[in-house]
Amino acid sequence: MAKPKTKHEALTFWENHSPVMDAFPLTFTNGALMQEFHGECFRCESRIPVIDFRGTVTQPIPKVVTIEAMGLCRECMLLTPFLARIRDDFTLEYIENTTQQWVSIRPAPPTLWKRAVQFLHRTLRS
Ligand SMILES: [Zn+2]
Repeated sequence: MAKPKTKHEALTFWENHSPVMDAFPLTFTNGALMQEFHGECFRCESRIPVIDFRGTVTQPIPKVVTIEAMGLCRECMLLTPFLARIRDDFTLEYIENTTQQWVSIRPAPPTLWKRAVQFLHRTLRS
């Protein structure tokens, strides 16, 4: 999700949503299949178990899936926000935290989320 204003807001979001993995694998009308995704805690960089990502997965049009989620790191007890769109050619678009503009990258599917998360690390720390 977009960067929450408060810890309370982030926690409320997490508590009121289902695991994002419930919506996987993602399927697109062109046959593309995305099995899972990974994300890391923005503080300690350890991998957050997929089950601890909670939020919404929507498909506004057949070619695009939108994921709005919070990932909980149980070591830090911190929530890391994720807001991204995935297209059926595996293009990933996400909100750049400083400018609040959508940006687009086109990595190979296995590195999709890692690169997005690395980007989030930089923006959240700045
Ligand atoms: Zn952590």
